[in-house]
Amino acid sequence: MEDKMKDKKRRNFIKGVGGFSIVALATGAGLYFAPKLKSDKPLLRPPGAVDEEDFLKLCIKCGQCLQVCPYDSIVLEDVNGGASLGMAYINPLDRGCYLCSAFPCILACPTGALDHEKDELKYIHMGMAVIVNESACLALENKKVPDSAIDRIYEHTKVLSPIEKRNHKVEISSSDNEKQELQKKLLQKLENNRGKSCTICADMCPYTPDPSAAIGMISKNGGLIPEIREACIGCGACVELCPTQVLNIVPRASYEEIYKGGNHAS
Ligand code: SF4
Ligand code: SF4
Ligand code: SF4
Repeated sequence: MEDKMKDKKRRNFIKGVGGFSIVALATGAGLYFAPKLKSDKPLLRPPGAVDEEDFLKLCIKCGQCLQVCPYDSIVLEDVNGGASLGMAYINPLDRGCYLCSAFPCILACPTGALDHEKDELKYIHMGMAVIVNESACLALENKKVPDSAIDRIYEHTKVLSPIEKRNHKVEISSSDNEKQELQKKLLQKLENNRGKSCTICADMCPYTPDPSAAIGMISKNGGLIPEIREACIGCGACVELCPTQVLNIVPRASYEEIYKGGNHAS
């Protein structure tokens, strides 16, 4: 309750002063005088996040980034968050980031915890995808995507009506706002995988202009397996959409750190 009151006071404060003042306050009082903070476990931070130690000082738990995220990808950490309680992160098993071209989350951050200088794809690096459960990959045995795996994405999509959720079918109408339209387009693209042999992770990777620079399917034991490539930026979309939880993200890791000994799938 006390934390909620504090957050409300902070939000009112932000409304009352300009962004520049907040940045000055946070960088001045936060970066230079805050004690060294450490989060209890590495979390996947939103695009543009500064390094973790500075992020923990700069994120003021205002929730501006998650309010503008059209995919509902960002959440605030709950009471288990230790030092980073209330701060913004992404749980890719629930919802990945879909790499909006204008990065509204970065632009909305009033303190620079998401660095305004990094609002282009070429500067974004959130982490690195890894295969954590290779034997569960459906592509290894050319297995089809189960309907339940696609239906699950409808169920956790927040902008749908109860009927759309129940019928697992969406249509874009002129009354839809931009957020509804984007999330419905995602579901329509995902529908192309229904009943087909699974290559969802590679097909749905939002890295542009060429997702195959980040992930591709390669032959293995008579089937296929995803191969994570150098351009992967750890957005977590493949993690969310994989039907069998084959993938996860190592936050802030680089390709070299993870794959210096060669690709894990080889
Ligand atoms: S880039 Fe878009 S989808 Fe990703 S966290 Fe930011 S606002 Fe959300
Ligand atoms: S989404 Fe990719 S990793 Fe997951 S089962 Fe399908 S092919 Fe395998
Ligand atoms: S492979 Fe693509 S979808 Fe998966 S984390 Fe990397 S960039 Fe995102």
